[in-house]
Amino acid sequence: MQAIGVTREGDEPELLDVERPEPDAGEALVRTLRVGVDGTDHEVVAGSHGGYPDGADHMILGHEAVGVVEDGNGSGLEAGQVVVPTVRRKPGGETNEYFRRGEPDMAPDGEYVERGIVGEHGFMAEYFTSPADNLVPIPDHLAEYGMLVEPVSIAEKANDHAFATREPFEWRPEAACVLGNGSLGLLTLWMLDREFDRTYCVGRRDRPDPTVDVIDEIGATYVDSRETSVEALPEEYEPVDYVFEATGYAPHAVQTVHALAPNGVGALLGIPGPWEFEIDGGQLHKEIVLHNKCLVGTVNSHVKHFEAAVDTLGEMPEWLLEALVTTVATPDTVEAAFEDDDDQIKGVVEFDTL
Ligand code: NAP
Ligand code: BGC
Ligand code: ZN
Repeated sequence: MQAIGVTREGDEPELLDVERPEPDAGEALVRTLRVGVDGTDHEVVAGSHGGYPDGADHMILGHEAVGVVEDGNGSGLEAGQVVVPTVRRKPGGETNEYFRRGEPDMAPDGEYVERGIVGEHGFMAEYFTSPADNLVPIPDHLAEYGMLVEPVSIAEKANDHAFATREPFEWRPEAACVLGNGSLGLLTLWMLDREFDRTYCVGRRDRPDPTVDVIDEIGATYVDSRETSVEALPEEYEPVDYVFEATGYAPHAVQTVHALAPNGVGALLGIPGPWEFEIDGGQLHKEIVLHNKCLVGTVNSHVKHFEAAVDTLGEMPEWLLEALVTTVATPDTVEAAFEDDDDQIKGVVEFDTL
């Protein structure tokens, strides 16, 4: 069957011919419909994040997928059911306390593999297999955009964890700021704009630009980080109650603290490599303490976040979905889905339709 992967020799996604997988007991065979590409996939292709399955000379890419059950294989899923797979799996078939608790998203590095990212083949192939409890059913009418359930679930978890830290007191947030105008940032911006009175999104692009058009259409304020640094948000605009960092630009982790209003919270999602820069550690420490501020690191997501994401996806307007999905490629034209220019927001590889 056709699959898209990276090989140890290559530095680009390639069309591969691999064997169709056979489901083990408890697993279903899924026919892939669509698979999305995000910033992490680019990091995996570049070799700066993730790694190959043990002993393999290639890794099938893709962790944002939607498919249709081809063979339920006695797993409890019915053929024809549209499903979205979660990303994390037990390493080497071994279980551990995080998986036993149903919280693989909280497992530390080394205690999991991630399909298409860390040590396990992904979903960018005509078929994939998965344990049924890692497949989240979605309604048929959401199949076209079902590959967005995974990135939305990332935002659901981050928001859950960040807001939970503000539960012990009466928090009345009004303003939120998303750092980053990639696909994760824009999906999250739409979600936060429903909850907050005022929203901001930080990018570093000139108008006209498709991501800035989406920010405008959502009704948020576009902030160009080349003119207004994130720590200057309070003076130039206003202190914000919530920051959602989705740039991977390491100085933003520190600047977030200064952008926050007293009692505010920042969620950090970017995954930068080594990056040295100078900071005033004393000022940072004092600012966090004296203003009850909080920074939350958050990665991955699991079934309950996927289920919340299915509801959120169902509420997203058509214009947003159409604007975000900028390329639908086929396996033969896969380069188009991985093109990373300013016109691309979310590239998608389509293997089949319902
Ligand atoms: P993406 O498409 O690469 O988006 C990143 C965006 O940040 C780009 O639009 C980029 O702008 C912008 N940016 C970078 N540095 C900036 C700066 N200094 N000022 C303003 N804007 C800046 O990636 P994504 O898929 O949306 O994901 C965002 C980040 O979250 C990535 O680092 C990814 O690895 C990470 N991520 C983490 C999780 C998790 O579970 N924690 C899940 C998904 C993604 P330009 O395009 O103009 O350069
Ligand atoms: C994926 C997550 C994964 C994270 C770190 C993200 O792009 O969406 O599922 O945990 O990368 O590898
Ligand atoms: Zn991702």
